[in-house]
Amino acid sequence: MTGRYNDRMIGDVRLTRIEESCTPLFHPKNWYADYNEEELAPVLKALPPGCHDPSTGFLTISIHSWVVRQNGRTILIDTCVGNHKNRPSWGVFDQLNTDYLDRLRAAGVEPEEVDMVMCTHLHVDHVGWNTRLENGRWVPTFPNAKYVMSRADLAYFEKAAAIEDKDVAEVNRQAWFDSVLPVIEAGQVLTVEGIEELGPGLMLRPAPGHSPGQMRLDVNSRGQRACLCGDVMHHPLQVPLWRWRTFVCADPEKAVETRREILEHCAEQDIIVMPAHFAPPYGGHIKARGDEFSILFDRM
Ligand SMILES: [Zn+2]
Repeated sequence: MTGRYNDRMIGDVRLTRIEESCTPLFHPKNWYADYNEEELAPVLKALPPGCHDPSTGFLTISIHSWVVRQNGRTILIDTCVGNHKNRPSWGVFDQLNTDYLDRLRAAGVEPEEVDMVMCTHLHVDHVGWNTRLENGRWVPTFPNAKYVMSRADLAYFEKAAAIEDKDVAEVNRQAWFDSVLPVIEAGQVLTVEGIEELGPGLMLRPAPGHSPGQMRLDVNSRGQRACLCGDVMHHPLQVPLWRWRTFVCADPEKAVETRREILEHCAEQDIIVMPAHFAPPYGGHIKARGDEFSILFDRM
């Protein structure tokens, strides 16, 4: 399945991308509060051709997981939208029926073999495959895994679900009940706070703003480094236009601050960024000149 999964070694750590979908999903004016067509046009022109659809202006968004394999351990980062989930308020996510699990198996991973699932944050497109429908009930898809979630996101989304907080999208409240709560009730959630080591050279660090408790995973092995940074950036246009606030962040100003910090850090240390939604080529090296940033795409 060309294009469906991509393998990359970072030292001794094997990173494999498992795609759920990759399509033009929304227009940037509906996503970025600081949208400005004149600023955007040259940025889009400089990006690889698949990053947006010139006929509609929509941005191409991949929804994928990263599988992290190291010393026989398998960690799944972010679990996409999932199958059979009721998401009527966001039609493209409603009642999906994809072969995501077959793609995971094709990459050599049986669901029973996943030791750990890490949701960078608890939005609808990062928790979906946490559960699957079995005899009308939502059960953990990965029966032997610990599901790592941040204390701040658990508190935020639990509260939002209970009070029907209108600042939190309906789809994220639904995801709480069918994709997060069942794994809590199964006793499989491991709550983390601050900096946590998931294994040798695998460090979880806070990346707040998009959600209060978003986390990134830093991979560091044999002098090679990658940063799996979730939704710190949804699209590569946010490398040069890192100042643009979105409509979809819990704290847009904090999200800008976090984005800048991560871009600066990755440029200084020559770390490959691998966010959750970049279309092909999915990740790259960050170059800095003062506070101007650009991306040199990785070959995957
Ligand atoms: Zn996302």
